[in-house]
Amino acid sequence: MIREFITADSFEDALRKKLDAKGQAHFLAGGTEMNRLGSSVSPEVAVSLKNLGLESISEAHGIVTIGAAVTLQALRDSVIVPAYLKEACGFCGSLTRRNMATLGGNIMLQRDDSYLMSTLVSAKARLIFADISMDGQYVEENIPIREFHAFRDHFVGSLLVSVVLNKPTRFVASQRFARTQQSPAAVTIAFGADISSGEPHDVRICAAVKGTGVIRFPEIEDGVSSGKFKDPQEIVTLLTASSDFIDDITGTAVYKRYIVGTAIASMYRACLVSIGKGGAV
Ligand SMILES: Cc1cc2nc3c(=O)[nH]c(=O)nc-3n(C[C@H](O)[C@H](O)[C@H](O)COP(=O)(O)OP(=O)(O)OC[C@H]3O[C@@H](n4cnc5c(N)ncnc54)[C@H](O)[C@@H]3O)c2cc1C
Repeated sequence: MIREFITADSFEDALRKKLDAKGQAHFLAGGTEMNRLGSSVSPEVAVSLKNLGLESISEAHGIVTIGAAVTLQALRDSVIVPAYLKEACGFCGSLTRRNMATLGGNIMLQRDDSYLMSTLVSAKARLIFADISMDGQYVEENIPIREFHAFRDHFVGSLLVSVVLNKPTRFVASQRFARTQQSPAAVTIAFGADISSGEPHDVRICAAVKGTGVIRFPEIEDGVSSGKFKDPQEIVTLLTASSDFIDDITGTAVYKRYIVGTAIASMYRACLVSIGKGGAV
């Protein structure tokens, strides 16, 4: 339960106030997770991100920069946010929650039913973090989201400032599988590829799988990039023989594996259609 609410007037001030609380504090963005009954994020001290100017969305030369405290509904309403990200924000079925929940909060949580992580990894988003280094200096760094995904623990104390989408022509598609729009998702999955050469390459496939976490599929990414699959359906067979999924309330491990495989195959086909190949490899 939050017992102390702290405001800050700069990124550095927010980071130092969080450090002063010696592990008791979390940044407070929309608060939808922090105030959720039974949340795993339940700090005594909240350092508010209000007043830090993290709510802007801008575009220059096709590069879209989004402040970490932009809400999912503001992303949906924006005319400059790419359609694939707007669609992923719609995976959060509650308008009330979309009006509070932020992009940054969603990324930092990296839940196993994350609305946005798969899409952002597939889009090859970049993240701008602010931090206090070991020697006490204020620093900012620009990292690929795949690094955040792979080394999440390194960013526990960091402040996510913004998200940069700098691949305007990339193909990105996402799918979410749940019993109802308000139910927890068994799988939220995305497929992204550079299609500038007329063939899919630089492929990223990422899924949030309930009970497993946010995972990538490097073997399939490489296979698609190298044109190894004669038919996208071969991916379904490949996945049947692998992957660590578990049975839970959202579905059995077998079901999750099957939908991951079929979803990747269908998005791969859609990617081929988008480059005028009609689904043929
Ligand atoms: C009923 C319910 C169902 C939900 N279902 C889902 C779901 O299916 N999928 C899903 O992904 N989420 C779900 N959520 C969680 C949540 O709504 C979203 O993940 C939301 O985007 C979190 O953003 P927030 O701004 O509310 O985060 P907050 O609750 O404010 O913060 C969450 C965490 O992120 C940290 N944080 C926030 N912003 C930053 C930042 N800029 N830099 C560093 N750290 C930061 C906070 O310190 C905290 O640890 C659900 C929540 C509720 C109440």
